Amino acid sequence: MNCIDIIEKIESEHSASKEEYAFLLKNISAGERELLRKKAQKTALNVFGNKVFIRGLIEISSVCKNDCRYCGIRKSNRNAVRYRLTKEQILECCKNGYGLGFRTFVLQGGEDGYFTDEVMTDIVSTVRKEYPDCAITLSLGERGYQSFKKLFEAGANRYLLRHETADMEHYNKLHPNEMSFERRRQSLFWLKEIGYQTGAGFMVGSPYQTFETLAEDLIFIKELNPEMCGIGPFIPHKDTEYRNYPSGSLELTLTLLSIIRLLKPDILLPATTALGTVDAKGREMGILHGANVVMPNLSPAEHRADYSLYDNKICTGDEAAECIKCLSGRMKSIGYQIVTDRGDYCPNERKQKDV
Ligand code: SF4
Repeated sequence: MNCIDIIEKIESEHSASKEEYAFLLKNISAGERELLRKKAQKTALNVFGNKVFIRGLIEISSVCKNDCRYCGIRKSNRNAVRYRLTKEQILECCKNGYGLGFRTFVLQGGEDGYFTDEVMTDIVSTVRKEYPDCAITLSLGERGYQSFKKLFEAGANRYLLRHETADMEHYNKLHPNEMSFERRRQSLFWLKEIGYQTGAGFMVGSPYQTFETLAEDLIFIKELNPEMCGIGPFIPHKDTEYRNYPSGSLELTLTLLSIIRLLKPDILLPATTALGTVDAKGREMGILHGANVVMPNLSPAEHRADYSLYDNKICTGDEAAECIKCLSGRMKSIGYQIVTDRGDYCPNERKQKDV
């Protein structure tokens, strides 16, 4: 077994064993990493061309009932500034975003009890009615099968719920006892069953993570077969017990992006804000390693800094129009183009036939 054989196997068979993934992550050389990057970029270009989809992120609440150990807005953090947007504010963000060309709105927040099914279905169905040509993505944590279903029926199309880690022991170290590894996995399968375009994902370099747990993440991605996968480096938050842990590695995150692109050529794969936080050119590098989505922030500027999951988050001061201009320029500088398209998941075979 050597790294090149494993890279070629992932490219041709879209899978590998846990041992092979772990071996590759542990032993990949700079030259092999470049080979992997080129293959991943070529694969993304074959499926999406040089187009990069944009998603307008609206951070609707910094209130959360959970206490994930790594998170800056965990409930026990008394220093966190709590806010929640009103329905009117959310609609205002959508209006602003629509005018800027966004055709996907991502409503993201902590697990905030205020946003009951009744409140959320009202918001989702209003956005659906006012913007029938837009995709609505939700990222509101675990809610239960019936709740997910109601929101889907109200007009939501996609749901992002990072699995965080596919290793139970690791999950239990990062989360308090009340949170369940099984329930998180079950939620993801429910979302798929209901018909959402579903996004899983994990942090790279989180405390206690090993190459073996990352290999399990890759196996889980294959098993769940999500339409989207959000991965970004772990970045510590000053008000958590992990404040002194180092951030996840840029290089390892990029390697994983490339592996995931080869594993599932048509997956929607964002170059995350966290990637842009650990390196000024992180998002550009993400795209060059096989990512095809960026998520500029449409949240009201006065609340940006309060949605503080990790320290030093970029773009907390810019207005949405500035964000899109900046990202558009960044993408152009590497030969890519931002597109104002819903950017739905489309199975690879269909896309290639359409081209
Ligand atoms: S990671 Fe999500 S669920 Fe966990 S505390 Fe933070 S906002 Fe809440």
